[in-house]
Amino acid sequence: DVLLAIESTCDETAAAVVTRSGRVLGECIATQEKLHEQFGGVVPEIAARAHLERILPVIDTSLHQAGISGSDLQAIAVADRPGLAGSLLVGVVAAKSLAMAWQKPLVAINHLHAHLYACQLSQSRQPTTSPQSAGQPDSAPDSTSPSTVTTAADEKGDTSVYPAIGLIVSGGHTTLYLCRDAIDLTYLGGTIDDAAGEAFDKVATMLSLGFPGGVAVAKWAEQGNDSAFAFPRSMQHDGSYDFSFSGLKTAVRYAIVGPGRQDFSSLELTDDVKADVCASFEAAVVDVLVAKSRRAISEHGVRRLLVGGGVAANRRLRRQLTEAAQQDGFDLVIAPPELCTDNAVMGAIAWKKIDRGEFASLDLDITPGLQRGF
Ligand code: ATP
Ligand code: MG
Ligand code: FE
Repeated sequence: DVLLAIESTCDETAAAVVTRSGRVLGECIATQEKLHEQFGGVVPEIAARAHLERILPVIDTSLHQAGISGSDLQAIAVADRPGLAGSLLVGVVAAKSLAMAWQKPLVAINHLHAHLYACQLSQSRQPTTSPQSAGQPDSAPDSTSPSTVTTAADEKGDTSVYPAIGLIVSGGHTTLYLCRDAIDLTYLGGTIDDAAGEAFDKVATMLSLGFPGGVAVAKWAEQGNDSAFAFPRSMQHDGSYDFSFSGLKTAVRYAIVGPGRQDFSSLELTDDVKADVCASFEAAVVDVLVAKSRRAISEHGVRRLLVGGGVAANRRLRRQLTEAAQQDGFDLVIAPPELCTDNAVMGAIAWKKIDRGEFASLDLDITPGLQRGF
């Protein structure tokens, strides 16, 4: 039993061939980071065009690596939500076309549910980086020593994993869910402005650390003093499950230049100062994420926390969540570092939909999902 999963929600064009048991037979990721770097953020039109150029070679490469052809597939899965409209469209149109050509059922997956499903996938693999990738492959995400992470949940069945609280911390989302199983999730709260990853990227830009800058900020933070700057922990004690990171972003900006400083001068950005800014910023983000996750766990009486998305690769977050899990006695499952950022392997969640007979029709449309509460 093998399926092809396609991912094109943001700026990674990815495909993977995964078995029902979660084994990865083929995988290819083409990142667009170099294309967007000069803009300090993902430019939607550029992203869509790049997906269009890369999607077929990426699919070809993953099928070839798996040593199979379209006729061997049981289904074709594609993330149809949420994401950038133009980006989503390329993946969805490709998946529909192949489903039609190869006469295979189509499965639509929610990219955020897939980020959490990555918690159930454990293998470490080396994806093929498409020759069409602009520039060098991504450096590996900021990894953590395996001993600080509870082993990945067993793959025998959902019963052992759920119910759970799910925390998504990515470039576009910061969301807490109550998860009844892999695909039955209730939104508890989320960011009212910037996502955690977005805040990391903006701070990286302010300090000229490149884009996307989460990994760079985390690296600098390791050398810094996390109480050098008193940055705000917005909404930490407001009793909701919502988050806000734009005030923190502004506080960082004001610490570096202008009105936040009494003499309106700019900070001299020595290496020590950069490290202190990064450490103090990172601590502020992580404190709020950990506090709200803990409260969601205790208020819902569940015993497990699943964490996925690019920022889940952050070491400080992993460390503080591990400490919280030990203190509060819940089970922590964080996605493996290489499955935190966008990839198609987490599209293995499609098997859960196949098992329930939840297929999409060939007139499947995209759902960008821009509204809060998605
Ligand atoms: P979404 O899934 O919400 O649509 P996305 O797919 O763009 O957004 P991901 O690929 O899951 O997001 O994550 C990318 C984000 O993770 C970027 O903002 C990046 O800076 C951040 N990130 C990656 N590694 C780290 C790290 N070690 N520490 C902090 N942030 C990180
Ligand atoms: Mg990306
Ligand atoms: Fe993502």
